[in-house]
Amino acid sequence: MSLTPNPYSSLYFHFPFCETKCHYCDFYSLGRERTRPEDANAFEKAMIEEIKLRGDRGELETPLRTLFLGGGTPSMTPPESMRRIFDTLFSYAHLAPEYEWTMEANPSSIELEQFQSYREIGINRVSMGVQSLKNEHLLKLGRVHNENAALIALENLFKAGIENVSTDLLCGVPGQSLDDLQSHMERLSDFPISHLSIYLLTLTPTHKMYKDLPNEEEQLKHLLFIDEFMRGKGFEHYEISNFAKPGKRAQHNLVYWTGGSYLSFGPSAHSFSNEQSIRFKNFSSLHRWAEELTLKATLPVEWTETLSEDQKELEKWMLAIRLAEGFPKDWLQSDRQRAKSDRLIKEGFLEPHPTLIHRLRATPRGFAMSDAIVKELS
Ligand code: SF4
Repeated sequence: MSLTPNPYSSLYFHFPFCETKCHYCDFYSLGRERTRPEDANAFEKAMIEEIKLRGDRGELETPLRTLFLGGGTPSMTPPESMRRIFDTLFSYAHLAPEYEWTMEANPSSIELEQFQSYREIGINRVSMGVQSLKNEHLLKLGRVHNENAALIALENLFKAGIENVSTDLLCGVPGQSLDDLQSHMERLSDFPISHLSIYLLTLTPTHKMYKDLPNEEEQLKHLLFIDEFMRGKGFEHYEISNFAKPGKRAQHNLVYWTGGSYLSFGPSAHSFSNEQSIRFKNFSSLHRWAEELTLKATLPVEWTETLSEDQKELEKWMLAIRLAEGFPKDWLQSDRQRAKSDRLIKEGFLEPHPTLIHRLRATPRGFAMSDAIVKELS
């Protein structure tokens, strides 16, 4: 067994199965039509092998502060299968006292009893993909649930005793109006949700809906409206696409956004070691990933990349501009950078942080233009 110190207190698990493939989805996920009945067992077996290989290398010895089950649709995994996977994990690892363990879920796979079982396993936060509360838009996006199912699923989560619930919405959906968005946010914030993520729908130019996407000006109007509305509801706009009630920021995602280390399991999953400045990725294909683990007993890593100094510098800026804390003023080392930042402040894209005096941050308008700001300042 390797005795290398374990830098990973944050783990991600990728569950690749979905009911159907949504029209806009870029994640590695397989709709029912692309899977065979035996795939679920093969997945569980391989996941257990991956945990054992990482555990035997001594990489699971630090108390776990955050776990994230993403996908795909992890809530399609039966609780007994989930239990077998995590019993293996906890034969190597243990949870830190204030851990956050999130599971992504879709309204079509949220049953009350199932979530009571997940809660018993230790899951204490659920992130539910609502995306829209208008049937016409859900259909357009290829989602399998409807508006009613989303609201019932949300009720069931709270009934199951999950207190920390986040929901996801999409904005920039063709045909979506400000009234639609307002009604979605209003109805979701009637529930005691602690967190809301609102992502801008992005499509490739070859996608059939691409030509119907709102233009940049329209998008900006929507993003500014969302910012104002959610802040009015007592949520903090702490990251470009994320709003949280006080003390309820997504701890696992903050590890990504602050350049922390995380180890990931499952097909297509990416990991990052801050200490070694390396990123590595598992094979995406479920079968290739499982084959490496169960037939060859090797780690299913497809590639490893060592970050160059330039990449690190760029990532530093990209991450800082996403967050409400922004960046320290002394990152502006050249006259060119200082002049650009002065101009961005005058134009309303950057502002001095209201309480952290040595920092600058993106304004809500700046959040919407973050890529351009990074280009200017890095
Ligand atoms: S449910 Fe999520 S992961 Fe699955 S296809 Fe739809 S967007 Fe992709």
